[in-house]
Amino acid sequence: MRIDKLLANMGFGSRKEVKKLLKAGVVKVDGNVMTDRKEHVDPNVQDITVNGEPIVYKEHVYFMMNKPRGYLSATEDAVQKTVLDLLEYEDLIYKPFPVGRLDKDTEGLLLLTNDGQLAHQLTSPKKHIPKKYFATILGEVTEEDIHTFQKGVLLDDGYQTKPGKLEIMESGPKSTIYLTITEGKFHQVKRMFEAVGKKVSYLKRVEMGALQLDEDLLTGEYRELTEEEIQQLK
Ligand code: URA
Repeated sequence: MRIDKLLANMGFGSRKEVKKLLKAGVVKVDGNVMTDRKEHVDPNVQDITVNGEPIVYKEHVYFMMNKPRGYLSATEDAVQKTVLDLLEYEDLIYKPFPVGRLDKDTEGLLLLTNDGQLAHQLTSPKKHIPKKYFATILGEVTEEDIHTFQKGVLLDDGYQTKPGKLEIMESGPKSTIYLTITEGKFHQVKRMFEAVGKKVSYLKRVEMGALQLDEDLLTGEYRELTEEEIQQLK
């Protein structure tokens, strides 16, 4: 990669600003001053410093976020807040984007990465990646609902869902459940409950494939995935 592109990607300013930085002689590659912005470098094997500070370059980043309510799972919006508004500047440099979508009022596990290949694998309908949700339901969730969800539910648009695994934690006028589904149709969990005459009042994703939401993350917090978690996802 060209040194000016690398430094610009790393947040050292625009290409013009980076050019000035290089001219000033403060950028060193393997101990030698580099002034030519067109030179190519390999940050994985060469030591690059700016003003003596080593720069750590990663091609891919992977963040697990506990998404709060009120944020869109998008990279930009003219009016509303997006999950990117919750990221630190130094993490935004890598241009991560959310993998799949959670509704604005849904909380929980959201993966953000700039690894397009992994994002595609995880969201491809062909892969049937299981996603587990915790929900509070207005209405009594019954054994019959478990069987209905097991067979697949007919949604309002005529779509028959694939089987979902419903686990009842508490049943009453307000019930709490876990639901695992392998698809990601628009508002799917909410519409599955609507199909059996019940309303979701709170929804939180807790698992996606092998990845589990870190319960230490408060809503709005995020952390990098561990190497082990990344490997489990691939
Ligand atoms: N199902 C929904 O209804 N909403 C979500 O955000 C995710 C799954």
